[in-house]
Amino acid sequence: MTVINPSPEVADVILEAGGEALKSCYQCGLCTAACPWNMVRSFLTRRLIHQAQIGLVELEDEDIWLCATCGACVERCPRGVEIIDIIRALRRIGAEWGATPKTIKTVMASLRTVGNPWGEAKEKRADWAKGLEVKTVAPGTEFLYFPCCTPAYDPRSRRVALATVAVLNKARVDFGILGNEENCCGESARKVGEEELFQNLARANIESFVSHGVTKIIVSSPHCYHTFKKEYPGLGGNFEVIHITQFLAELIEAGRLKPVKSLEKRVVYHDPCYLGRHNGIYEEPRRVLESIPGLELVEFPDSREDSLCCGGGGGRIWMETRKGERFSDIRVEQAIEVGAQVMAISCPYCLLNFDDSLLTTDKEGLLEIRDISELVKEVI
Ligand code: SF4
Ligand code: SF4
Repeated sequence: MTVINPSPEVADVILEAGGEALKSCYQCGLCTAACPWNMVRSFLTRRLIHQAQIGLVELEDEDIWLCATCGACVERCPRGVEIIDIIRALRRIGAEWGATPKTIKTVMASLRTVGNPWGEAKEKRADWAKGLEVKTVAPGTEFLYFPCCTPAYDPRSRRVALATVAVLNKARVDFGILGNEENCCGESARKVGEEELFQNLARANIESFVSHGVTKIIVSSPHCYHTFKKEYPGLGGNFEVIHITQFLAELIEAGRLKPVKSLEKRVVYHDPCYLGRHNGIYEEPRRVLESIPGLELVEFPDSREDSLCCGGGGGRIWMETRKGERFSDIRVEQAIEVGAQVMAISCPYCLLNFDDSLLTTDKEGLLEIRDISELVKEVI
């Protein structure tokens, strides 16, 4: 393990990220107790914060790359320490020193060259919408629908974008897409410490949004939601951002969408970290599910603020997680324990992780993972 005493400039990066609150950390360890990693292995959040306080960074330590930026520690910290910002700063130093994990380097190279983490051709980005009733967004179009890289390229997640378009068309919403001009929102890049790359992606998107007259954006991914809403304003991009579950609740409550078909299923809703803990959106997804005739909504023992992370945030979706250490395996098990037939989700990373857990733990057939947009499409 290499221990590096960073230069004063590097120490400044950590201090700037942690601010005054970093100095007030009194090592109570509540962050460590809240961290889901401790369900599967030992992970000392408190120790990382201590290292940041004294300006020491162990760059070859796996720990700084484990954090899924779920926010559970931040929620519990009695001193308001911005733990995620500090971990992000540590990763930024790691990136500058070339200590980024290999898989992340590959994904970042794809983001740099083709604007998506999948390494797919930029000109194929809008293929998912071929043959659909979808126009290109232009000045005067009320909403931009931004599906995110995952539904644009991943075949399973693509069904979420298709369902969303069907539902928006049914409610006669005036919307368009950006097509091949879309870039990744950049969330993963920022969370793994690739700040310059994040800013380049964000600036390219902001420029496209502005040149197409975009003012309101509907998103499928809570990661895009968080990034557009909370991080683009810092780069001059100010847009109204709406997560699809918020919009569906509004459309249903206004009578523009009517769930009429019965769905006789026991459904448990998983709160994604970036919709729930990071942005306080807990009720709208539940109101949408409750509006579906026949559907019985049940809860996890830990939901809302206490929801277990799927493990995909903070760039973790692009890193290997050892068997036996996947939070998504635990969540799938919990869903089956509460008797759910369907786990409703509202995030593309949750969909990938939970589907993978069903497959790798031989639980296919015991539980279905469905995005809320897909469920709504089925009943209108
Ligand atoms: S919970 Fe906050 S104050 Fe307590 S050890 Fe963690 S960062 Fe420090
Ligand atoms: S953000 Fe989540 S995964 Fe990261 S240290 Fe905090 S509790 Fe652990």
